[in-house]
Amino acid sequence: MLERAQRHVVKLMLGLNSRTKTDICQGFIGWCSLESYISTQKLFFLGQLLNLSAHCLPHQICVNRLLEYRYNCCEQPRGFIAEVSKILKRYNLSNYIEDFIISRTFPNKVRWKKLVRDSVKLIETRKWLERIKHDEDMQLFSEIHPTLESHPIFSLWSSDPSLNNACSVFVKVCAYARINDPTSSDRLLCEHCGLFLTCNLSHAIVECVLFMQKRLDVMKLYSHEEATDNKFLVKMLSLSNVDDYVRKQTVLFIFLVCEGLV
Ligand SMILES: [Zn+2]
Repeated sequence: MLERAQRHVVKLMLGLNSRTKTDICQGFIGWCSLESYISTQKLFFLGQLLNLSAHCLPHQICVNRLLEYRYNCCEQPRGFIAEVSKILKRYNLSNYIEDFIISRTFPNKVRWKKLVRDSVKLIETRKWLERIKHDEDMQLFSEIHPTLESHPIFSLWSSDPSLNNACSVFVKVCAYARINDPTSSDRLLCEHCGLFLTCNLSHAIVECVLFMQKRLDVMKLYSHEEATDNKFLVKMLSLSNVDDYVRKQTVLFIFLVCEGLV
C-alpha cells in the first residue's frame, strides 16, 4: 500500500501519467523503494541498540536474541532480530554482526549510518539498473540517466522558474521517448518530411527536417558530428557534462519541437 502511494506521488510530482514506468519516475529523482527506506531505519535502530552500554537492558536483550538467532536456538525465528538479519544479508552487512558476536565491537553511530546508507544505495541501484537495462521500453532511459540520482533537469528547473513549462515538457520527453526504429513494421509516416518513424518525439528531436535549422544551432553547442543519430539524442536528454547555458538552450529546443507531442 505504501509502495503504491509512493509510486502515485512520484508520478503526480513529475506530471507523468499513471501508466508511466515506475522505475523511470523513481530513477529520475533518485528515489529508492520505500521498502529500502524502512529497512534503513530498522538497521539504524539495530545500530543504536548495539552501541548502547553493555549494562543497558535493551542492549542485553538484543545481544541475547542475536545469539539465539545466530546459533539456531529458536525453532521458528520471528520478530525484530529475524527480520533485521534478513535485511543485513540482503545488503551484505551480516559480517558486522558476525564480528560483533566474536569481538563485541560494532561501528559507532556515524560510521554505521554511513555504511548502511552506502550499502543500501549500492544494492538498490544495482537492482534498478538490472531492471531498466532488461526492459525494452526503458532502453533509451537507461542510456539517458543510468544512475539512481536526481537528473540535472531538476537543478535547472529550481534555478530558473521561467523554464517551468519547458522543463515539464523535457521530463515528459525523457519518460516517453523511445529509440526510433524506421525498420519496424509498426511505423508511421511523418507528414512534414516523409520519413518513417516509430517514436514521434525522437523523430522530432533528431530527424525531422522541419526543425533542421534550430537543431543545427543546438548542435554547434555540443560540437557533435552527427545530428541524426541516437548518441546525439542521448547526449541532449542526459544534460550531463554541459554548462547551464547549453542545458537551457537544449531544454528550450526540446520544448519547441515536442510541446505539442506530449
Ligand atoms: Zn518529420
